[in-house]
Amino acid sequence: MKINEIEVEAYELDHKVYARKVRGKFRNLRWAVAAILLSIYFIVPWIKIGGRHPVMLDIPWRKFYILGSVYWPQDFFYLALLLIVLTGVLFIFTAIAGRLWCGYACPQSVITDIFISVERFFEGSAQKRQKLDDGSWGAVKVEKKVAKHIVWLVMSFIISFTFVVYFVPADVLVGRILTATLTLANIFWLLSFTASVYCFCALWRELICLVPCPYGRFQSALVDADSLVIGYDVGRGEPRGHKLREENRDSHQKELGDCIDCSLCVQVCPTGIDIRNGLQCECIGCALCIDACNAVMCKIGRPKGLIRYSSMRALSGGVTKVIRPRVVAYTLSIVLLIGFFGYELYTRVPMEMQVLRDRTALFIKGEGGVIRNVYTLRVTNMDIDDHKFKVSAAALDDNLEVRLSMGENPITVKSGEVYEGLVVLTADKEIDQKINYLNFIVESVSDKELRTIRDATFVMP
Ligand code: SF4
Ligand code: SF4
Repeated sequence: MKINEIEVEAYELDHKVYARKVRGKFRNLRWAVAAILLSIYFIVPWIKIGGRHPVMLDIPWRKFYILGSVYWPQDFFYLALLLIVLTGVLFIFTAIAGRLWCGYACPQSVITDIFISVERFFEGSAQKRQKLDDGSWGAVKVEKKVAKHIVWLVMSFIISFTFVVYFVPADVLVGRILTATLTLANIFWLLSFTASVYCFCALWRELICLVPCPYGRFQSALVDADSLVIGYDVGRGEPRGHKLREENRDSHQKELGDCIDCSLCVQVCPTGIDIRNGLQCECIGCALCIDACNAVMCKIGRPKGLIRYSSMRALSGGVTKVIRPRVVAYTLSIVLLIGFFGYELYTRVPMEMQVLRDRTALFIKGEGGVIRNVYTLRVTNMDIDDHKFKVSAAALDDNLEVRLSMGENPITVKSGEVYEGLVVLTADKEIDQKINYLNFIVESVSDKELRTIRDATFVMP
């Protein structure tokens, strides 16, 4: 897939784009998707189900509550697997749907869109904004700029506050703010996220998409001629040019395509590119040029869709192939990965057990010829509920019989807590074999699925 590589340097990093406001179907759709996503983002940290937040990433206690399950740093494997699955989903999604993610769901695009609306509210249309920036400083300019930046900062703080309450419960953080007892960590994260949102979405905007974001760069590798992209129908639009009234058209005028070269598609583009130059990695898939061009087509009485969602193959007169080797390969891999991920999650046992032998004495001889081995048992309850665990031990060799004794059995371990205690195994008689293998078994009294087995050894004199 050939994507026009207009160098970002050529885009000029200090070049500010004054995108013109546009109305239309895709503009409305973007607002609707943004409203849904932002509602989820802002509401989720305030919800409690069964006394717990559905998503709470408790860094100090290293516990991650996600939709009714608790994950620990030991569960890093699942996070790695999830990232691999998400990368696979991104591959297949991009191969089929191009940059729909960037245009509708990427937090950078969604929030930047709202920040630009604030700028438009205070400073007016694209033309007025440019005039204001180019003009000299005076009371009006200062007033507008200060008001805009204050609103941007407040919005950045609200977005950052919401982000932080995914890590610190909302009621706790609000309480700390009201009583001026925020920790240094709270202050650091609130301020640094506020500064990041302000810089990324208010000041740098689409430059983030063009320079540091790697997704746009991957595009050329991920999309092919059949991927869904926003494209200009060259065959229909060219040769472009201003059209005169029907009666004034000469032979050249009669040959003109549907593009009247009004440049509205360029004026509304937030990255300032001209989609008529072909697919470019600077295109963030916002579809605003479609709305702008459709409005023009309606005015001049031509069918909509000179710029439209299509594939490069369809735009050059071919037929889009939805099912193709790349899509089949990505789909198969992702189905396998999701299946594996689902199986691993389903079979995950939310508890951990460690058994450590007492190193000071390998064995203890007791009265009546009994032999004792001492162990330290550590049981971690990684489940969302408290549990009573029954501890037992079973020798693997029929010649050996051991009795287990400990302070209390079953043991009660609260959700997210660790039990640590001594366990003594006693064999009534000595056998010839010095090293004997056995299993420690810890299982929940109320949930037989919650069961872990660990190997250990029993040492004879
Ligand atoms: S908005 Fe449509 S008609 Fe106007 S320049 Fe762009 S492609 Fe041509
Ligand atoms: S070219 Fe069109 S879809 Fe791409 S960024 Fe510009 S306005 Fe959005």
